Amino acid sequence: MSPDLSVDVAVVGAGPAGAMVARELALRGAQVALIDRRHFPRGKVCGACLHPRALAALADAGLGELVPRAGGIPLVRASIAARGRVLESALARPGAVLSREAFDLALLEAALAAGATGMFGEAARLEPAASGAARRALSVGARCIDASVVVAADGLGGGLLARADRIERAPRRNARLGLGALLPGDAADVPECEVRLSVGRSGYLGMARVEDGRIDVAAAVVPAALEALGPAGALAQIAAEAGAFELRNLDSVRWRGTPLLWREDAPAAGWRVFAVGDAAGYVEPFSGEGLSWALLGARALAPIAARPWSLERAREWERVRSDLLAPRQRACGRIAMLVRQPRLVALLAGASVYLPRATRVAVARAWGARAESAWAEGATA
Ligand SMILES: Cc1cc2nc3c(=O)[nH]c(=O)nc-3n(C[C@H](O)[C@H](O)[C@H](O)COP(=O)(O)OP(=O)(O)OC[C@H]3O[C@@H](n4cnc5c(N)ncnc54)[C@H](O)[C@@H]3O)c2cc1C
Repeated sequence: MSPDLSVDVAVVGAGPAGAMVARELALRGAQVALIDRRHFPRGKVCGACLHPRALAALADAGLGELVPRAGGIPLVRASIAARGRVLESALARPGAVLSREAFDLALLEAALAAGATGMFGEAARLEPAASGAARRALSVGARCIDASVVVAADGLGGGLLARADRIERAPRRNARLGLGALLPGDAADVPECEVRLSVGRSGYLGMARVEDGRIDVAAAVVPAALEALGPAGALAQIAAEAGAFELRNLDSVRWRGTPLLWREDAPAAGWRVFAVGDAAGYVEPFSGEGLSWALLGARALAPIAARPWSLERAREWERVRSDLLAPRQRACGRIAMLVRQPRLVALLAGASVYLPRATRVAVARAWGARAESAWAEGATA
């Protein structure tokens, strides 16, 4: 069957990883199809916080103005509550808060402006191919796309590469589920420019006020709590367990969910396929760095995917990706394990009144926070 479209690279998923790699490839002169099953703007479960590393990756790509232009708000403070104690900390390097609707749309527009061809509203499926095949074929609805190389940027729930090449991905036994929404502005007391995190036995949640005044809430929830209490009940429960940042009026909220927040043995490459962003590996999101990994990974992949395909290219990408991201992802995995123990977090919090330097180091590991951290016993918003 002759293809409806023949390109150098087909990028599946137009989230931050896909849009960035499509833009970089198009700027290098490649013919790129950028495919997403959704139409944009579209929401996504995410804390909507851009780490300084994500902002630096955008600036390095010549997109330093993208976040401010889209309405991004500087992020200068973080507060973490556990068992009635609150750690407040100024961030040494500001990040930004921007809804995923606005951020992903702005980045997608940048990719299209660079020359990528967008195809939206239908899921792509990778057709199986024997090792040695000269091209890869994708079905997108009734259309057939043929590409020299495919980039799987289809996120945590995508599984394009895993499904096509029959690679099993085993979820961790105690993995949590992602849950999120944009809440009305009066659903919680969240000052602009600050992220507020609550850690409880039922999971953890983060809240930040986005550009239109609404509050982005994103959580990693113990599946049993979600099953027993429903989305609003589970989030109210986490807030109550953390004992500081109350949530109100959650009755008519439209919730979004995710699959289990874990991937082991996620492959970074298959035959003529590179995976990037959440599609290539995932760590629970407590430290808010998934977007920076997606952007940094996409920028590192582009020069590799732009060269003629060979198995050496696949090995090169696995090496580059691992050197770039694995140490930081391991550190974030350890932080995610720590916040599974709110008692331990609260204990550290108590100790940090006497050991403020230890607190500084711990928070700085996550977000580069500065000296004046303080735990306030029983503090509230
Ligand atoms: C609770 C929670 C809070 C988080 N908070 C933060 C935070 O504050 N800061 C941060 O940096 N990161 C955070 N993250 C992580 C961040 O959301 C992800 O790391 C980031 O979205 C990864 O980008 P991506 O482009 O790889 O995937 P995605 O953003 O998921 O994009 C994948 C795209 O692929 C499309 N797609 C999937 N399958 C197909 C298909 N078959 N065909 C066509 N299209 C397809 C989807 O529609 C989607 O648009 C959080 C995550 C969770 C779950």
